[in-house]
Amino acid sequence: MSQNPKPVLRFAPSPTGMLHIGGARTAFFNWLYARNTGGSFLLRIEDTDRERSTPEAVQAILNGMTWMGLNWDGEVVYQFARAARHREVAEKLLAEGKAYRCYATGEELTAMREEQKAAGKSMRYDGRWRDRAPGPDEKDKPSVVRLKARQDGETIVHDKVLGDVRFENSQLDDMVLLRSDGNPTYMLAVVLDDADMGVTHVIRGADHLNNAARQLQLIEAMGAAVPVYCHLPLINGPDGAKLSKRHGALAVEAYRDMGYLPETMRNYLLRLGWSHGDDEIIPTAQAIEWFNLDSIGKSAARMDYKKLDNLNGHYIRETANDVLVAEVTAFLARETPPRILSMTARQRLESAMTSLKERAKTLVELVQGAEFLFTDGPRSLDASADKLLPPEARAALAQALPALEATDWSGPALEAAARNFAESAGLKLGQVAQPLRAALTGKASSPPLFEMLALLGREESLTRLMAYTA
Ligand code: GLU
Repeated sequence: MSQNPKPVLRFAPSPTGMLHIGGARTAFFNWLYARNTGGSFLLRIEDTDRERSTPEAVQAILNGMTWMGLNWDGEVVYQFARAARHREVAEKLLAEGKAYRCYATGEELTAMREEQKAAGKSMRYDGRWRDRAPGPDEKDKPSVVRLKARQDGETIVHDKVLGDVRFENSQLDDMVLLRSDGNPTYMLAVVLDDADMGVTHVIRGADHLNNAARQLQLIEAMGAAVPVYCHLPLINGPDGAKLSKRHGALAVEAYRDMGYLPETMRNYLLRLGWSHGDDEIIPTAQAIEWFNLDSIGKSAARMDYKKLDNLNGHYIRETANDVLVAEVTAFLARETPPRILSMTARQRLESAMTSLKERAKTLVELVQGAEFLFTDGPRSLDASADKLLPPEARAALAQALPALEATDWSGPALEAAARNFAESAGLKLGQVAQPLRAALTGKASSPPLFEMLALLGREESLTRLMAYTA
């Protein structure tokens, strides 16, 4: 009976920067496929480039993954720690005649490329050491190890997304596997680690498609199993041009700080390159159930911030009030300097949340709308609240106060008192309510006024209102 082993997926970022939006989508698609199939999702930090890899970037990637909710299986694999294994396999390929030492110096290779350029040829290594044994001159000279790649025929990448992509082998030169300092190149490390980790599916950005052709040659030389390749079309900016920083090629942490929820990011990233009919709202649990490789789109995806905002508004409304309080509390604690909410502030926030969350597309907006609940004392007015409190409005406020004070300070009683007062003073309810709102919250819009008066309580509300009665 043939065994059908569970898929093994991996995300293999190079720790040279943050986890950006494209990387997060790659990680998410790998994670989804693993969760959909009951396979495993491994994390490998590709830190062989010692000059460009930093511990801060490793931490930023781990934080980004954790915030996105993309839990990996087992321990993180650090590629550099496997350098001895990479060397061992390079030596084996040398011994088998599948790789060779190249003693060409940097200057020599530069000259070679310049000649090729001048002759209008494509610039690639010309194989000068392919069939040449080192002489006595080379004995102690530095060398690199290169793969003896096939020179004729073609290499076909059978890509699950892009179909069969053909490469002329004459265009693929003998790539370096081991540098002269004995460290592996990305090409050797990635192929060998995938093989050793039993990776069955490689889902990554389409910028790696050309690498796949070269990697296939190395896989063949090593006698390893060929994984299923899925190269994801790139993500473009809203105008269809390459994604830039200005466009949102930002670290996932930047999205976090702009107030997007992880659930929003997952749904949004899913739709950047994968579809299920016309469905736009696909919570993660549903995505795990539906995800497949066949529905990955072939064309480049486009960032659409309006869609991101609308999705976030949706998930904010869907999130339970106590969870949102925890999100807001964590969000404020990340500010510099951190803002720590008092117990009273948190209780007020939770009581007002049903109404607050209806008005916010991001946690930033949610915080702005809730600001008046966080601290006690008179409010400073924003520009539109200031407009609502000209001298005549302050006078009306002063006159209305005794009627309010006479109530039991419940929402309905306060509303009835304000209505009665407005009627007796020949004013519209808004002429009383708007100045009240401005003085109470410092803003021109807020959750329902009378509920907020009741929530803040008699003493605190009066302190705020009295600050604007003259
Ligand atoms: N380390 C590579 C990168 O960050 C990814 C390698 C791969 O997915 O095969 O671009």
